Amino acid sequence: MAGRNFLFVPGPTNVPDRILRAMHRAMEDHRSSDFPALAAPVLEDLKKVFKTTSGQAFIFPASGTGAWEASLTNTLSPGDKVLAGRFGMFSQLWIDMAERLGLQVQVLDAEWGEGAPLERYREALAADKGHAIKAVLFTHNETATGVTSNVAGARRALDDAKHPALLMVDGVSSIASIDFGMDEWGVDLAVTGSQKGLMLPAGLGLVCASQKALSKYDGAKLPRCFFDFGDMRKANTTGYFPYTPSLPLLYGLRESVAMLLEEGLENVFARHHRLAEGTRQAVKAWGLELCARAPEWYSDTVTAIMVPAGVNGAEVIDIAYRRYNLALGAGLARMAGKLFRIGHLGDLNELMLLGALSGAEMAMRDAGIKVTPGSGVAVAQEYWRGTAPALSKRDLPPRAPDAEPAAPAAAKEKATVGAAR
Ligand code: PLP
Repeated sequence: MAGRNFLFVPGPTNVPDRILRAMHRAMEDHRSSDFPALAAPVLEDLKKVFKTTSGQAFIFPASGTGAWEASLTNTLSPGDKVLAGRFGMFSQLWIDMAERLGLQVQVLDAEWGEGAPLERYREALAADKGHAIKAVLFTHNETATGVTSNVAGARRALDDAKHPALLMVDGVSSIASIDFGMDEWGVDLAVTGSQKGLMLPAGLGLVCASQKALSKYDGAKLPRCFFDFGDMRKANTTGYFPYTPSLPLLYGLRESVAMLLEEGLENVFARHHRLAEGTRQAVKAWGLELCARAPEWYSDTVTAIMVPAGVNGAEVIDIAYRRYNLALGAGLARMAGKLFRIGHLGDLNELMLLGALSGAEMAMRDAGIKVTPGSGVAVAQEYWRGTAPALSKRDLPPRAPDAEPAAPAAAKEKATVGAAR
């Protein structure tokens, strides 16, 4: 299909040209004397994205799922109890992994569309006088439902109960897009992947561990090998990896972190918020509901939009993709067919997102949803116009003088003919 593909799934996200160029390298020897000059600064600078000075960053050739596994296996032992909220497909999958690794999970279920049930975390921690719970698993941004939860609230629940459990946070679809303060919130293990806010292809699982989390390593008896913090730390100390790293992704990550820091993390978060808010206003103008049930949970990286009863959300996605070259996110597990998702994270601006909103309108109408053509697009345009930063004054070239009034056509023709004679 001619023209570009509009990639609006909530990861992988668009890879900026600057990062594509940075990754376009001939392969190099990852055991050369030059290699540490690439790896060591990336490991250090990455910590700024997690907003930690005291934590340690790990880069695994994996994905977010690998980073989940690394956080569990390096700090816990078989049979350990963990506390986890379940309110969407990704919080569910992390719980499933913990169970399969031999952990005992105390699950706090909430409706899909709601955030992490903070009050129930609080009650469970307060009731755990013997400190059997060794870790709290917390999904910051549930990508399946477009819901962001309050990590600071989880920290407060732990502190108020004077509970020593580790706080593990899945920031796969929040870190580098939505404010995330590892040190400020006392997060012990923060997990992400390369293909979302970091604007890279999938292929890196990133973990940042606090000193407290690292102190659990020696006593943690879950089996681990590929994701062993000890092997990684030993190699990283000299700027190397215990196995072959992905060179292009390391070059890409260096560029990605540089881009995020150049824009300024606070500006990155503000940009995501503004783009998300315009999207939410478009959904309102369409007369549709968000999956997220209350504004406190609205996600600035992904909007999950409920389709009306009788319509299959998968059809909207299929039409958008095959007819308009627009990739939208699907409803997952129990949300299959009930919603579609617009990912608005990473390398993105207003006009790109207007393309997606416009395509979504067309696909929805094709699928039989009665949205008024242009309604969401118009509202988003006006929101983004109204919130656009003021332009600095600039001297523009003067306007050309207005043309002489045109002579009536017949007189003009006569004059021309006369001149020819
Ligand atoms: N956690 C969240 C919140 C996610 O959105 C995803 C993937 O989309 C994952 C974990 C799993 O990450 P990956 O697919 O990179 O393994």
